[in-house]
Amino acid sequence: MDFQPSEAELRFQQEIRATLAACLPPDIRARAERSALFSADDFRRWLAALDAHGLAAPNWPTAYGGRDWTPTQRLIFGRELGALPAPWVYPFNIAMIGPVICAFGSDAMKQRFCAPLRDGSILFCQGFSEPGAGSDLVSLRTSAVRDGDDLIVNGQKIWTSYAHISDWIFLLARTETNPKPQQNLSILLIDMKSPGVTVRPIVSIDGQHHLNEVFFEDVRVPADNLVGQPGDGWTQAKFLLGHERTTIAGIPEAQREFRALQAFARSGDFGPLADCDWHAREATRLEARLEALNMLEARTALDPEMQGLHFASMLKVAGTEVQQQIDDFAIRILGPGIGGVAPESVRPGGNPAEPGLPGTAALAGRFFYRRAATIYGGTSEIQRNVIARALFAEAGERA
Ligand SMILES: Cc1cc2nc3c(=O)[nH]c(=O)nc-3n(C[C@H](O)[C@H](O)[C@H](O)COP(=O)(O)OP(=O)(O)OC[C@H]3O[C@@H](n4cnc5c(N)ncnc54)[C@H](O)[C@@H]3O)c2cc1C
Repeated sequence: MDFQPSEAELRFQQEIRATLAACLPPDIRARAERSALFSADDFRRWLAALDAHGLAAPNWPTAYGGRDWTPTQRLIFGRELGALPAPWVYPFNIAMIGPVICAFGSDAMKQRFCAPLRDGSILFCQGFSEPGAGSDLVSLRTSAVRDGDDLIVNGQKIWTSYAHISDWIFLLARTETNPKPQQNLSILLIDMKSPGVTVRPIVSIDGQHHLNEVFFEDVRVPADNLVGQPGDGWTQAKFLLGHERTTIAGIPEAQREFRALQAFARSGDFGPLADCDWHAREATRLEARLEALNMLEARTALDPEMQGLHFASMLKVAGTEVQQQIDDFAIRILGPGIGGVAPESVRPGGNPAEPGLPGTAALAGRFFYRRAATIYGGTSEIQRNVIARALFAEAGERA
């Protein structure tokens, strides 16, 4: 069973739904309904529109633009937001570095960054992974060495999503030389226009440019741009990854995608398909998984006992697997209608025809790109390790 909202919570839901719908710029909504590709300007305008209504970062502390909502109101808001065809509420700003700055940053850092993070006047990217340091993040080699009032950064990051449209990067770097590697890391905020920063594109299998390599050569960064205390970066990174993984789970968005597919399958063009055994079996299986995920999400949001990092891992594994299952289902229903499964970029001369469901031309690209959902934010194997360790520890405590 999901949760049972009160009358007041139902009114809150109606208000949030109406406000969100009213503040989403119509051209961005139209683009969201057609395809999943957004420009930096779309991300900025959506953040600015939400921020104007106090809705860009409701989960932050109230002192920095958050809302004094109950856990149920937060859950309702997340579901309403996910149900809307809209760009991401730029997670690098809102779900990742924003909460870290609010929790660990100096007052001056909060003053400087919180408002522009919320209203999209600056966009951040995430500089954690390196060649040879993805799952094993602690072994990263990018260094930041103190030189007077500055730190000098050298090294390389990889798979840096949206570095090419970002104004700033939050970088996990080695600043200390303790015997315990976890105590050697710090998070630095670096202006992407700093001399010595180079961004090189990586084009992914969907033919799009989301990813980059970022190189740092003697980049001078004011020491004040280090978040919290030197050597606290690993603690901050784990805090950030918990937020990141819950966001990647994307359960309300998966619900929306599944509902759109079902509506299309029943719409007439594919009428017989909606009635066939295969379709009914697959749809029922997906519906049951989504319902189970809804319950897990509600429990982790509402139950104070279910707040450990491993719950974020559970949501990430289950949410990303369902996203991929929805894409598989979509491609099997619509594959012929979109001229096969290959995106145009890997299918020269392909026809990105729209057979009726808004966004179907983008489905093949999404299908390919979302193979990565069980990798980014930490692979499913790593999440299962996190879950297993927590369950073993719990079992040990009970024994
Ligand atoms: C589309 C995409 C976007 C990304 N965006 C960003 C970003 O914006 N910023 C950023 O910093 N990073 C980003 N990443 C990087 C991502 O976080 C890493 O790819 C991920 O953590 C895995 O690291 P790796 O690629 O080095 O693989 P590896 O760590 O080398 O893993 C290879 C394989 O070994 C398995 N494995 C490794 N260690 C273990 C273990 N202990 N137990 C069991 N299995 C194990 C993994 O599960 C995987 O199957 C992105 C990645 C992708 C694909």
